[in-house]
Amino acid sequence: MAELEGLEFGKSDFVLLDEVNMEQFMENLKLRFEKARIYTFIGEVVVSVNPYKQMDIYGKEAIDAYRGRELYENPPHLYAVADAAYKAMKRRAKDTCIVISGESGAGKTEASKYIMQYIAAITNPSQRAEVESVKNVLLKSNCVLEAFGNAKTNRNDNSSRFGKYMDINFNFNGDPTGGHINNYLLEKVRLLRGGSEEMLGSLHLQNDPVNYVYTREGAASTTSNNDRSNHRAVLSALQVIGFSEEEIDSIYRILGTILILGNLQFETDSESVQVVGSEAVSDIAGLTTTEPDNVTKSLLYRTVATGGGEVIEKGHTEKEACFGRDAFAKALYERLFCWIVARINAVIEVKDYNPVLHGKNTVIGVLDIYGFEIFDNNSFEQFCINYCNEKLQQLFIELILRQEQDEYQREGITWQHIDYFNNQIIVDLVEQPHKGIISVLDEACLTVGKVTDTICLESMDAKLGQHPHYTSRKLTPSDKTMEFHRDFRIRHYAGDVTYSEPYYVRCIKPNEMKSPVLFDDARCQHQVAYLGLLENVRVRRAGFAYRQPYARFLQRYKMTCEYTWPNHLMETDREAVEAIVTQHGFQDDVAYGHTKLFVRTPRSLFTLEQERAAL
Ligand code: ATP
Ligand code: MG
Repeated sequence: MAELEGLEFGKSDFVLLDEVNMEQFMENLKLRFEKARIYTFIGEVVVSVNPYKQMDIYGKEAIDAYRGRELYENPPHLYAVADAAYKAMKRRAKDTCIVISGESGAGKTEASKYIMQYIAAITNPSQRAEVESVKNVLLKSNCVLEAFGNAKTNRNDNSSRFGKYMDINFNFNGDPTGGHINNYLLEKVRLLRGGSEEMLGSLHLQNDPVNYVYTREGAASTTSNNDRSNHRAVLSALQVIGFSEEEIDSIYRILGTILILGNLQFETDSESVQVVGSEAVSDIAGLTTTEPDNVTKSLLYRTVATGGGEVIEKGHTEKEACFGRDAFAKALYERLFCWIVARINAVIEVKDYNPVLHGKNTVIGVLDIYGFEIFDNNSFEQFCINYCNEKLQQLFIELILRQEQDEYQREGITWQHIDYFNNQIIVDLVEQPHKGIISVLDEACLTVGKVTDTICLESMDAKLGQHPHYTSRKLTPSDKTMEFHRDFRIRHYAGDVTYSEPYYVRCIKPNEMKSPVLFDDARCQHQVAYLGLLENVRVRRAGFAYRQPYARFLQRYKMTCEYTWPNHLMETDREAVEAIVTQHGFQDDVAYGHTKLFVRTPRSLFTLEQERAAL
């Protein structure tokens, strides 16, 4: 068993704070960060602070220490949550999900990869070849998804653009049988920095991203020495997943086309618009195996239907041509990306699964999603992200509180009702049929034809003006004016969020400088506040954080008590457990259920663990 940490590293669970307030919370978080303890529990939730340096805590030794253990038996770690999710999925044969949230650069994607690595490491002990191959493809798919779905931004060199959701399917043995990915996109400069001269030549490309409008910004703001090896890793991942040489060639051709498109310029010459220079057009034609004339035509004209049903071609203005060029490039990229994801999904999808033969197929979903975002100017994107977070928070409240209450009732434990803010009312405000924000927006878009922000806001004012959580043009919790664009991604997005026991990893970004030594108090406190971590601690402290069937508890701790070692002579296991609890003096911290012992704080369990380790 890994050593439990000493007090000099702070409290390993925020539930153990002497008082739950922001000051103590931040003090503990900072102390732990400074002592290179990047993980801290809130019960089963892991709070993680991005260390911005390689930590030696993910190796085989750590994996062995966490495998099959209870949460409180080891120091806080992603592996503890991954193991808890895996155990819950296996024991109850129920789907489960790990929700990883936090702002850009907080470490969500890294966390999701460590979690997947852990699950891959602890499954398939018999090394069956087909399971190994599924695991391999699942792990390699991250590399490909990042190459095509991530981008260099100011906030993060390897920023995932929008949420990523990955399902891992398991058979009745608890071994991975396949998976499914949902993802979104953006471009990348690695292709140019990493590609060989020969390959770039054949694509009519130069090897510096600065030469391309679409990659110039990313290239100028960041430098990376790893582009070449990353590029090789992507290529090899594509091959492992099963992309053929021809498919890989097509991917590069499309990427080449997109980059060349980005550099195309237009000029207006005696009323008509022309492409500047002919080389780019012929390069694109070559890469896409079309005729140069077709390329030119698609860039300079659009097809319109006249009132009489006639179809005519109308020339673009220079501005329209630029807009069309960029839209074309984006659409190409989007389709390429969707095709890659679909191609990976086809490889990893569970095939030939026969529930009668193979037992129930269960899923662990790993959701890598932005946390609440509050900017001075919030767009529809923030609305979607925040709505999604409200929904997740709702689920959290539902599950933690309602299911807790159900279990206490089943076990005959008296439960003191605690007051909490139930955000159902906010979720309703957004999604109720006919009168929620989404419906109102939908309606406005359908009936008005050309919809403007003002029209949307006016119809929301009319329908939602009386709602306690709606004030004119302001919506709690973001409490800022919202600008709506006509983009309704929300349905799809929310539709994905229907899990049952989620586990949470809350990622915090310690500073804006990507520094391993800087803890920016104000920035961190801001994140703690909007992630609702204090609330979380309060809810956790109100109930019983840990529970164990009497027999299991006894098995683990019987050696710490003279009345139970080596065997107890009492009538029931429950009485034996009472003897252990009383001998250690934490009877006020527990309640006795019909079949389980309930423990309020981890303090008592830590004491037992320490005593057990000292024997
Ligand atoms: P985005 O929302 O922009 O996708 P993110 O939350 O997914 O951001 P990551 O890409 O996971 O952020 O992390 C950003 C960077 O921080 C990583 O590229 C890595 O350098 C560093 N980092 C994050 N987590 C860890 C970790 N556990 N150990 C070492 N470095 C880390
Ligand atoms: Mg990410």
